[in-house]
Amino acid sequence: MCSLKNKNAVLFDMDGVLYDSMPHHVAAWTRTFADFGMHMAPCDVYMNEGCTGSYTISKVSLEQRGREATAREVEEIYAHKAEIFRTMPEVGIMPGALELMWKVKACGLQILIVTGSGQKALIERVLRDFDGFITRERMVTSFDVSRGKPFPDPYLKGLAIAGVDASEAVVIENAPLGVHAGVAAGIDTIAVNTGPLPDEVLLREGPCMLFHSMPELAGCWNELMK
Ligand code: MG
Repeated sequence: MCSLKNKNAVLFDMDGVLYDSMPHHVAAWTRTFADFGMHMAPCDVYMNEGCTGSYTISKVSLEQRGREATAREVEEIYAHKAEIFRTMPEVGIMPGALELMWKVKACGLQILIVTGSGQKALIERVLRDFDGFITRERMVTSFDVSRGKPFPDPYLKGLAIAGVDASEAVVIENAPLGVHAGVAAGIDTIAVNTGPLPDEVLLREGPCMLFHSMPELAGCWNELMK
């Protein structure tokens, strides 16, 4: 367990942490790759979660077609995935996410969101659903960095926006590559396993703690701040 006593900022991941959106992403990615003659299993969507769409597309193309996707292909495939996602029923806010936001705010800590997402509709929705907790200036998305998770860059950018050192921040992540990025940025990272992957897959990336749901983390938050 890591102490959160001297923390100044909380860097939240978005998909699978603030929104119960991963089942939608799984459906959208598997259908998209099938439509372009490639394949992605549901567990691979969870294993790749957190990195940018272009990173995922290039990786799968290289593995299955023996070549990286061209910039135009990346754009076309990602637009197709985004369109499938857009036409799906609206995703729900993750249970416990707002409760945790209230507790973090009550402790006087800064709140930022650091996501690999480039889903404009979902990014806009965050500003409505988490009004009073987050502003666009305090969000890092795939539009704001050239190298996404698992590289530390998005979280390093989050630290710069917050104006704090890594030791003063904490990351909340649900994905293996997201935990990897937080740890690589030198930040204490809390894993919340809200998906189907075994805990071990997250634990081997080096989080300081692991919870099994956002309500569980929210319930322990005040204890962690002591
Ligand atoms: Mg996530």
